[in-house]
Amino acid sequence: MKRATPEIDRWKKDLWAKQAVKALQKNQFGAAYCPTREEAVKYIQDIVSDGTTVGIGGSMTAVELNLVEKLEEKGANVLNKEMVTPAPLPLDPEQIIPMVRKLFCSDLYIASANAITLNGYVLNVDGVGNRVASITIGPGKVVLIAGVNKIARNVEEAYHRLETIACPKNVKRYNLPNPCAKTGYCMDCKSPTRACRIYHLMKFKPMLTDITVLIVGEKLGY
Ligand code: SF4
Repeated sequence: MKRATPEIDRWKKDLWAKQAVKALQKNQFGAAYCPTREEAVKYIQDIVSDGTTVGIGGSMTAVELNLVEKLEEKGANVLNKEMVTPAPLPLDPEQIIPMVRKLFCSDLYIASANAITLNGYVLNVDGVGNRVASITIGPGKVVLIAGVNKIARNVEEAYHRLETIACPKNVKRYNLPNPCAKTGYCMDCKSPTRACRIYHLMKFKPMLTDITVLIVGEKLGY
């Protein structure tokens, strides 16, 4: 009997997500699989309470999950909620640097990942560096939420994903005049507005940190 396409899609998502979770755990990260976005939101709501201070790294995943509202429903204090938006934000150091320092001391920092490999590595590309810094050390706890679309077979494919999907789409989102906004793939530009400056690869959970990677069995973010 032929199986329906949605059933096959589910099989593939579950298979890769569970494989990535197992590998992340081997690499000493906390890791869990939420088949749906609703379950992911519940997971996040369950770890905050009244007064928990939360920072959110620039992420379309957070926007798509409506995380600010969901966290505030539980009484959490989202420190940078005005920055959780699909719209471009001005790169104003007067505003950003004090906020970065504040987020460093948050109870919980939530961000996405640009790619997760099947052997449990976590990759991100950053321009300012606040997101990768807060992921690496500082906040009391970090949760990285990644849709199953972020899973790559290996590091080579993860970089391919960054160069052909994550980075060009973010450049387009921020309306930057960089060549990838015309080609749809990375041209390794030397533009003054180059968005990709820090390539961050975590093979193992950094020492002295509490990082959980939440894989969601749906497409989320870029
Ligand atoms: S390095 Fe430049 S061309 Fe490549 S994705 Fe980043 S901004 Fe675009």
